[in-house]
Amino acid sequence: MSVNLLDFDANGLTAWFAQQGEKPFRARQVLRWIHRSGEGDFAAMSDIAKSLRDKLAGLAQVLPPSTLSDQLAADGTRKFLFDVGKGNAIETVFIPEAERGTLCVSSQAGCALECAFCSTGRQGFNRNLTTAEIIGQLWQANRALSADKVSSGIPGDRVISNVVMMGMGEPLANFDNLIPALRLMLDDNAYGLSRRRVTVSTSGLVPAMDRLAEACPVALAVSLHAPTDGLRDKLVPINKKYPLADLMAACQRYLKVAPRDFVTFEYVMLDGVNDSDADAHALLHLVRDVSCKFNLIPFNPFPQSGFHRSPAERVRRFASVLIEGGIVTTTRKTRGDDIDAACGQLAGQVLDKTKRRLRTKTDFQSILPQVPQVSPIRLGADLPS
Ligand code: SAH
Ligand code: SF4
Repeated sequence: MSVNLLDFDANGLTAWFAQQGEKPFRARQVLRWIHRSGEGDFAAMSDIAKSLRDKLAGLAQVLPPSTLSDQLAADGTRKFLFDVGKGNAIETVFIPEAERGTLCVSSQAGCALECAFCSTGRQGFNRNLTTAEIIGQLWQANRALSADKVSSGIPGDRVISNVVMMGMGEPLANFDNLIPALRLMLDDNAYGLSRRRVTVSTSGLVPAMDRLAEACPVALAVSLHAPTDGLRDKLVPINKKYPLADLMAACQRYLKVAPRDFVTFEYVMLDGVNDSDADAHALLHLVRDVSCKFNLIPFNPFPQSGFHRSPAERVRRFASVLIEGGIVTTTRKTRGDDIDAACGQLAGQVLDKTKRRLRTKTDFQSILPQVPQVSPIRLGADLPS
């Protein structure tokens, strides 16, 4: 069976080359061709001996997920939909800004963690993405974006300067496939990003946060969303397993090796649910021993979510309580919402392998007395298998 070279980081590729009787520097050359030059065709790797190119063509391939669609929003945000087989598709979003270009990358087809306000979580879980499927999003987006640059007459540098693992899925629940992908992002022979420019966002898988600190400490964002265990249990159910005190302690441990001297807490602003002044004051108390910044995310609606976005004035007031408490707080601009590319709207297509679609009532309805019934979204029924 042909080996997909996108599955290997530098060490993995060197080991595979060694198995084929090839030297480490050859592996390095091929790594550069694949990731720095975005080349998937061995025949085009011009400084590699013809005999090795032919050998590679017989044994291996460079196989990223194929692009199903590529949409551009009015504000320049670009959303890619990639096929990951068997009726599943994932989304990747490029967000251009004056100073940087951020790619938001998916880690799983769906998500098993069922956060109440998240479209990905609501639709179920199919499987972990492979390393090739994770890094393949970067590979494909890079090619598409640099092709644009060349055609617009601006050749040269890469447009992707930052990567955030904030697309579909919980990256730390797919740890073993995530780490080689992160290492490729950081590798000078691949994407060469600094550790500060690669961010893993987690809903708070405490043991995996410790493992990340050891294996590949990149910047960390933690999806907090509630100041108390009572509320967080409902919004982010993994909190029942790793409650807030454990999560705060894990953040403090992570900070000892983090490339930045703060953890970013993400906080989705849900009207009447977690957005009161009292909630903001409780947050100040909760994070008192953790060096952190807050990023408030106005809730992005999706069909039948049952939640509403906090009014802009409420978000401002909430932010000012945190700022007065001494915490740097930003509010995320909503980008690409005309193409459903905003945080939490990424749905792709997931053939759910869990039983959740059969459930009629979920936990969080108890915090939404005004909402009559939130029925699970029906997805995937008409997808090819
Ligand atoms: N699973 C990871 C990363 C993916 S989600 C995590 O939960 O951190 C990226 C961010 O978008 C998280 O902070 C998540 O809570 C937030 N999010 C999810 N649904 C949202 C929605 N509908 N509106 C705004 N933000 C949302
Ligand atoms: Fe999964 Fe993150 Fe969505 Fe929660 S917010 S369901 S962890 S993708």
